[in-house]
This record gives sequence, structure tokens and C-alpha cells, in this order.
Amino acid sequence: MPVSPAAATAGAGRFAPSPTGDLHVGNLRTAILAWLFARATGRRFLLRVEDLDPERSTTGTGQLRDLTAVGLSWDAVPVRQSERTGLYLAAVDRLAEAGMVYECFCTRSEIADAPRAPHAPPGAYPGTCRDLGDTARAQRRRQRPAALRLRSGVEAYTVTDLLHGEFTGPVDDLVLLRNDGVPPYNLAVVVDDAAQGIDQVVRGGDLLTSAPRQAYLASLLGLPPVQYAHVPLVLNPAGRRLAKRDGAITLGALESTGAGPDQVRDLILASLGLPPGPLEEALPEFSLERLPAEPWVFAAPPGEPLSLR
Ligand code: GLU
Repeated sequence: MPVSPAAATAGAGRFAPSPTGDLHVGNLRTAILAWLFARATGRRFLLRVEDLDPERSTTGTGQLRDLTAVGLSWDAVPVRQSERTGLYLAAVDRLAEAGMVYECFCTRSEIADAPRAPHAPPGAYPGTCRDLGDTARAQRRRQRPAALRLRSGVEAYTVTDLLHGEFTGPVDDLVLLRNDGVPPYNLAVVVDDAAQGIDQVVRGGDLLTSAPRQAYLASLLGLPPVQYAHVPLVLNPAGRRLAKRDGAITLGALESTGAGPDQVRDLILASLGLPPGPLEEALPEFSLERLPAEPWVFAAPPGEPLSLR
């Protein structure tokens, strides 16, 4: 399998949380998996704080503390996206020079209400502003600031994933710069993965559908492709993604029910078919073949109500 020490490269894996709340066991499990995949292939392991959302982002200090508490270590000072706007703008400039960027003035509701082709994927941008004439553009500029969109040359793109094989997903004219000047996730993730030397992306399965547009964007920017592994999510007993209402699912809340970080780590390792103990000891046992393909169902223990530290 591709994740063996023999396949060691000078590349890096990463975990890239958005610091919008405490990490829950699902996030911690994905982080541990990203670490295991990176270490098992001789890669460095890096952390990136995806704090571009100015309204929802915190410092991420609590997340880093929790990652350390379950035994993760990383090889460089974590990168913060809010400090790297210049890199993202430079990437947009390069695409603009190639004629692949246009101004978009649509509101959310205009996009939702716009007529679209019957086969268009749900949520895809309908192309309203793609071919605005100079007069219409000048008029719309007076009404509201423009977002910048990619003039995509494809409708779909294929990526290869270690767990899912070949995956083809839609690519629309995605936003490259929001109209409040904030760079969006899809652009930042591509720019940063390349800038940090990351060539292995292990993350939750919910992001598999984002991979085609990110890989396409990387190809347009001349950036090297990455190896993807989109890992199963952790679900609640009702089969839905873990959420705050599920009770004790964060490290802090679990601690108040009597389960310390080492026990949470061991629980996560057990869910992966791995022995308890420090992550370094689980590493030799880790292999792609043994990774459970099914989501892990996590029932929060009863106890103290969720504490929002
Ligand atoms: N920041 C994203 C999240 O927390 C993950 C991005 C990624 O791994 O590509 O959902």
C-alpha cells in the first residue's frame, strides 16, 4: 500500500482545523489519522489554523492544546491563514493575468433564484456575471462591491483518493475573493498546501466533494497535485454528524465525565483497530488496509452537561 515507510518522501501531511469552536472526537480522530498517515510515510506533519472567517474565528489556542493533549506533535510553528492574505491575492493576480477571473455582483438570493441548466449541480454558480458587458458591469459596480470568480474551463475534475479511488466531482466558477475582501477556503487551502510543501491531504470525508475544484485550481496555478485520503466521519447514534447537542464530545466535556485525554486517545485508537498507548506505539500497526471503511458511531457518555470552556 502507498502508506509504508518505504514510500518515504520529503513531503508533509497536515491537519487544518477552522478555529470556530472546540474540536470534538471526530475532529480529533481525523487529526490522529492525518498524523498516522504522515508519520507512516516518513512525511513531516504540519498544522494550519484556518482562521479566515473574521466573524467566527478564535485564536485556536484551545484546539492546539487539545491536539497536544491527545499526543500529537508537529514539525513547525502552525501557520495562520489570517496572516497570509498576500499569498492568496498573488494567486488571484496570476489567474487574472491568465484571463481566468471575472467580477461577480450577485447576492446569495440572486444566485439561488437564477435559472440554471437542468443538469447543473446543486449550488453551482449559474454564470450570471460571467459575460457581463462593460456597461452592465460599470452599472453594477456602483451598486455593490464585486466578488471575484474563477472563469472555470471545466465542469468536472477527477482526483484520486487512497480510500475512494477515482472521484469525479463538479467544478463551477468558484469564488476567489469574497466581496468583503476575504479570501475563501477553496483558494487558501490550495495556496497553503503548496506553500507549506504539503503533498498529502488527510481530512474528513465531507470534504471529498471539494477536492475536484481544489485540485483543478492547483493545476491552473501550476502547483503539484497532492495525495488525498478522505477518512470516514464520526457519527452520533442517530447516524448524523456529531454536533454540540450530542453532549460530551469535546475533550473538555469528556474530561468532566471522567475520561481524560489519554482515554479519549485510546478510544479513538480502538475505533481504528489500533492498540492503546502513545501514538508512536500505534504507528507500526497502522495500515491503510486495516482502516475501517465505515463511520465510527460515537455515543457521548452521560454526565455533566457540555461545558463550553
Ligand atoms: N478547515 C477545514 C475544516 O476544519 C478543513 C480544511 C481541509 O482539511 O482541507 O473543516
